[in-house]
Amino acid sequence: MKNDKELCVYCNSRFAETQDHVPPKGFFPQPRPSNLITVPACKECNLGSGVDEEFFLASFMFSEAGVTSTGKTLWEQKLHRMYAKNNGLRKRIATLLRRVNLVTPSGLFIKRGIVIKQDEPRLAKVVAKIVRGLYYFEYKEPLDISTEIISQFLRTESDAAEAIKFNDQLLYGTRQWTDIFEYKFNRVEENHRCSMWVIRFFGKIVFWVISGNDNDFVKTVPLSNNS
Ligand SMILES: [Zn+2]
Repeated sequence: MKNDKELCVYCNSRFAETQDHVPPKGFFPQPRPSNLITVPACKECNLGSGVDEEFFLASFMFSEAGVTSTGKTLWEQKLHRMYAKNNGLRKRIATLLRRVNLVTPSGLFIKRGIVIKQDEPRLAKVVAKIVRGLYYFEYKEPLDISTEIISQFLRTESDAAEAIKFNDQLLYGTRQWTDIFEYKFNRVEENHRCSMWVIRFFGKIVFWVISGNDNDFVKTVPLSNNS
């Protein structure tokens, strides 16, 4: 029998009756690795984010991640079917696509193409759930439900440069799957709600994530030396 006293790592309120995959197992092409991460979750939290996760995957298939070998395999194995039969998802992605002229940083025209404008609040929801799951996996305690999780999609080199500053202070995730899912992390010893994560999907899509509350940031981050 399962231990029914354990609480869900996401909502911290309902009992965990299931094991949830972190990241979602649909992010792995078949055959899936045998060492996927799972965390205790209630049914509502386990099943409640499937649509957002499908959207997350499908939207990145139109970015440079879609042309990696993992992206191609995922697309062939399942995403094209999901995209073809799910009219809501297709419409939603169509509204995010725009035609653009691809140019080099110096302004040299390359070709006409299509880029996707990322639906960031929806992506942030998926990333926040993954971070809650990873936090539990790494620290064997849930991240308090009141803790805010802020994520930034590192779209450009200058976005990424800010996150790279912290690289030396971060630890490698206990489990990594090269070109599918990799992460680095750390937390503030005196205040466990404050943590930082750099998460990379499919070797290409990088998110920088910080957890904590407003008060935490004021106490732990020196804002100014002027006074
Ligand atoms: Zn839950």
